[in-house]
Amino acid sequence: MSKKILVLDPDQDFRKLISPVFESRGHSVFQEEDCDTSLQLLKNEEIDLVLVGSPLTGISAEGWIEKARAIKESVPMVFIAGDKTELKEMKPRLDTYKLDLVSSKPLIPFIFGARVECVLEGDVNSEAQQQKLKNFEKMFMALVSKYARVLPEKLAELAKAIEAAKAEPGNLALLDEVKGLAHKMKGTGGSLGFRKVGEHMAFIEDSTMAMKEMAEEERVHIWHQIDRSLVNAQMDGEQEAREVIDVVHADDDAENKDQTADSEQAGSEKEQPAMARIMVVDKDEDFLKVVEELGRESAVEVVRAQTAPEALDKAAQYPLDAALINIVTEKSQEGFKLAMEIRSLPGNHNLPLAFISGADGMQDETEGTHAGASLYLNKPFKPDSLEKAVEHLVAIRQGGRPRILITDDDEFFANTIALVLRNEGMIVKTLNDPAQILDTMQEFPPDMLLLDVMMPGITGFDVCRKLRKVPRWRDLPIIFLTGQTGVEARVEAFRCGGDDYLPKPVVNEELLTRVKVRIDRAAMLRERSDKDTITGLLLRRAFSEQLSAILAESERIKCNFSICLLDVDHFKKVNDTHGHLAGDRVLAGLGQLLSKRFRVDDIRGRWGGEEFILAFRRETKERIHKAVDRVLEEFRGMEFESDSGVSFKCSFSGGLATYPDDGETIFDLIHTADQRLYIAKERGRNQIVLGEEVPAK
Ligand code: GH3
Ligand code: MG
Ligand code: MG
Repeated sequence: MSKKILVLDPDQDFRKLISPVFESRGHSVFQEEDCDTSLQLLKNEEIDLVLVGSPLTGISAEGWIEKARAIKESVPMVFIAGDKTELKEMKPRLDTYKLDLVSSKPLIPFIFGARVECVLEGDVNSEAQQQKLKNFEKMFMALVSKYARVLPEKLAELAKAIEAAKAEPGNLALLDEVKGLAHKMKGTGGSLGFRKVGEHMAFIEDSTMAMKEMAEEERVHIWHQIDRSLVNAQMDGEQEAREVIDVVHADDDAENKDQTADSEQAGSEKEQPAMARIMVVDKDEDFLKVVEELGRESAVEVVRAQTAPEALDKAAQYPLDAALINIVTEKSQEGFKLAMEIRSLPGNHNLPLAFISGADGMQDETEGTHAGASLYLNKPFKPDSLEKAVEHLVAIRQGGRPRILITDDDEFFANTIALVLRNEGMIVKTLNDPAQILDTMQEFPPDMLLLDVMMPGITGFDVCRKLRKVPRWRDLPIIFLTGQTGVEARVEAFRCGGDDYLPKPVVNEELLTRVKVRIDRAAMLRERSDKDTITGLLLRRAFSEQLSAILAESERIKCNFSICLLDVDHFKKVNDTHGHLAGDRVLAGLGQLLSKRFRVDDIRGRWGGEEFILAFRRETKERIHKAVDRVLEEFRGMEFESDSGVSFKCSFSGGLATYPDDGETIFDLIHTADQRLYIAKERGRNQIVLGEEVPAK
């Protein structure tokens, strides 16, 4: 919601520094230097928030605040002290003046903006918000200090490029090189609070661009200005790095003083939000400890459970990204049973599972396929095996936390954005080399892509055009991130198939809002257009698209996959005898059963009527045959109720076909599976035909 914000500060530079933070969020800002005019404004306008910067002219800040309070007793107010000493003096008087937030100069617009946004939302003091802000600031500062360290290197690189361009005036590519480097530092520097560095870089970028049109002798003068900008950037960069780091330390000091020992605990545990939360079910205490330790190293939060009831309890309590279950107990059936029970909990039918077994591997893989193990892990874990496993499991999770891919050749910029999104519980991957985008998206299918425009070798617009030609990514929400804000770039962003456009430096609330809205909308549309309402499974078109992707992948990495067509037996009779609604309940029941069984990365669809289709990657057909047979057994055991209250049971028949043995095209495979389904019907139904016995075409 757009708010009216009054910024009172006699210092014009300061007003200019912070106003854009709010304007870019859609708020209107009244910039005022005069104290009386500000009071007048407060009286006459419906102001939503007052920011008072110290020192004022002609009146003390406290004096002005008292007057303002006499006019508007409860308008949200933020005080920005002139320095740290004043900040300390003001802190005890927060309540007296009903201040919602105090801060001090110099401040980092990026972080300050995030804090003020909380004031506007009215929950600046809620514990959750505080924790979120603290996490955000910590991660942000880690990035800033890293940037401060490499800034001299980056500037040196730019200086070199400038010298090269000067030496070869005819070579326009060298000018582009300078422009590109400056452009990148403009975006990142600006976002990370290096405002002046950002401004110098903007100047260098614009000047090099203008220079292309100029005669050589005209350029000399511009080069001179660029050199000066570069030197200033070096000096200002050092200064700004010191300032931002100071700001954080000052805040840390203040906190340590007014908080007790518990803040330390919270701090160390919550260094950064976990990349994923997984549950590990194992009796062995020592093993759990090792896994927890491995988890800490790779930002994976481990929820532990030693018994099946404990596991079910915790799975119901915490939203999980995956579960790792030990199935080698004396009664290994228990592990499989637990896996199925966890998948049956509300919202968990697509929870990825991995089964843990001893060094000698799994005994019963049919059970594993049936219960849905996407991975098998052997004890003991190697150092990076947990991280790899979690990465894989998280990537195949559907309908869990949103997955965002950020593609930007500027590593720092990508990381800044990533931390903002991770802090909101999203799963984020950054990619700096746009050439790898298709492979990366195969391994990490994103729910949204944030795409830089200016990248070496290829523009973001071209990447977008390419992606839109791949059926799977046709509807993927794509947002461009770029420092080019001209009309042409904006038009091009939409023309090439982008959904939205965010200017750099990116304002994090704006980023979050746009990302969330786009993801929600896309999920809703997908749900509506891809899913069948009765069974909850994919509709034919969506299934076919995913199947094509599986075929392409299998061709590429030379591995097999199988499809299975299922058809409910005598379904016409079910309808005729028990009613059409009872028939629908049978379809829904089978749909739910199929979605809870097998691996979450196997795909399931309603092929039409009472026909279903499944696709399994990289499994032997014998194992799939047995696993589907187990589901048939379960389905036969399910009781349905007719429209008049009589209970009845059903069965289905199925035909299996495997790539590449039974065919190399989807058409051939489905044809073969259909023929085998027909054979199953012929042989008396209620069975799955794997079939070496296909009649000749
Ligand atoms: P078979 O064992 O040989 O497969 O016999 P069948 O009766 O199952 O096969 P048939 O293809 O003759 O009949 C399928 C029936 O499924 C006919 C159709 O009315 C019914 N049907 C198709 N879609 C739906 C649906 O969404 N809900 C219900 N209740 N019935 C459906
Ligand atoms: Mg049928
Ligand atoms: Mg049929």
